[in-house]
Amino acid sequence: RKIKVGLIYGGKSGEHDVSLSTAMAVTKEIDFNKYEVIPFYITKQGEWRSGAALKAAVQSKEQLTFGGEGRAVQRSGSSNALLPLFGGLQPAEDTAVISSTSGAAAEPALDVVFPLLHGTFGEDGTVQGLLEIANVPYVGAGVLASAVGMDKVMMKKVFAQAGLPQVVFRHFTRTQWAKDRDEHVMEIEVSVGYPCFVKPANLGSSVGISKARNRDELLAAVDEAFQYDRKVIVEEGVDAREVEVAVLGNDEPEASVVGEIVSSNEFYDYKAKYLDGKSVMVIPAEISPEQSDAIREMAIRAYEAVDGSGLSRVDFFLTREDGKVLINEINTMPGFTPFSMYPLLWRETGKPYGQLLDDLIRLAIERHADKQ
Ligand code: ADP
Ligand code: MG
Ligand code: MG
Repeated sequence: RKIKVGLIYGGKSGEHDVSLSTAMAVTKEIDFNKYEVIPFYITKQGEWRSGAALKAAVQSKEQLTFGGEGRAVQRSGSSNALLPLFGGLQPAEDTAVISSTSGAAAEPALDVVFPLLHGTFGEDGTVQGLLEIANVPYVGAGVLASAVGMDKVMMKKVFAQAGLPQVVFRHFTRTQWAKDRDEHVMEIEVSVGYPCFVKPANLGSSVGISKARNRDELLAAVDEAFQYDRKVIVEEGVDAREVEVAVLGNDEPEASVVGEIVSSNEFYDYKAKYLDGKSVMVIPAEISPEQSDAIREMAIRAYEAVDGSGLSRVDFFLTREDGKVLINEINTMPGFTPFSMYPLLWRETGKPYGQLLDDLIRLAIERHADKQ
């Protein structure tokens, strides 16, 4: 029997289109002899749609979004109604997947779900929680690791506890800032200094992030970051190379070779990441074997510190002045097109994309069994 894989993609986040590209790539590389692939599309408005099992690689975005039509499964906001979807109903050929009360959660219709979503609702633990409740195995990090990895403040506290070196930082909520702004500014100027990086605590893709070189810029940057989140983090700015490691596994994770991002911009902002296509990946990074070993070891430690599973990409700064390695962040659902850093790091390490998909699906099923 084929393994039934539910692919969830799209979503309400700013990375909707990135998710569609990833879904398309996955259908191109997945082995249809081994897997039955059932698509679940979340529109930008948050409506869930499902279609019949895919027969072969998808060639266009229209196919993934069911020509914009599709079959409404459920609006977001009432996730309970989604449970039978994973827990008992099978999307039949050309049939709307709307549940009545049938389909107890005991016998999942899907063997595994692949949440190919980034950002809010995708890699922050919320979709993961839904899948936990539905009792269906899913690829990637669990609720805890996803949530920790999405909140830069919580992530840094966990890294600190694990003894991982990182930049100095301060954080505050909108309410705290409004109340004690001058104190926070003084505190930042004394302990963090300029230049500093100001970020919304809970986002990715460099959205809402700015570099501040003086007090005026700091104040503007904080206001900007508060547009996106009620919590803001301010970090010491470092002049550094940016290197990244792909980690794969559950309780015995493995690290890939190290890769470097050479940004087209002053820093690796949204434009450099997605728009101008000029940032360059150097794989493997041109660093010493000692540095590479140290960075890979730290990547595993960071993964274990957040209790990661499945996959993560761990990003570091390598300071230009003295070659110090500082951890920047962990991304529990990294970019996953065949041209993204994560799959390319594994390819260079000897694991091609198709094999990576096999591993991730196997790890999801193993992790689910391990929890029981
Ligand atoms: P995201 O989760 O959105 O990717 P990051 O924290 O990785 O956010 O920041 C995005 C980019 O901004 C980094 O890749 C780097 O180029 C730059 N950057 C972020 N923090 C710092 C810092 N403390 N010092 C220097 N550059 C930074
Ligand atoms: Mg990130
Ligand atoms: Mg980043």
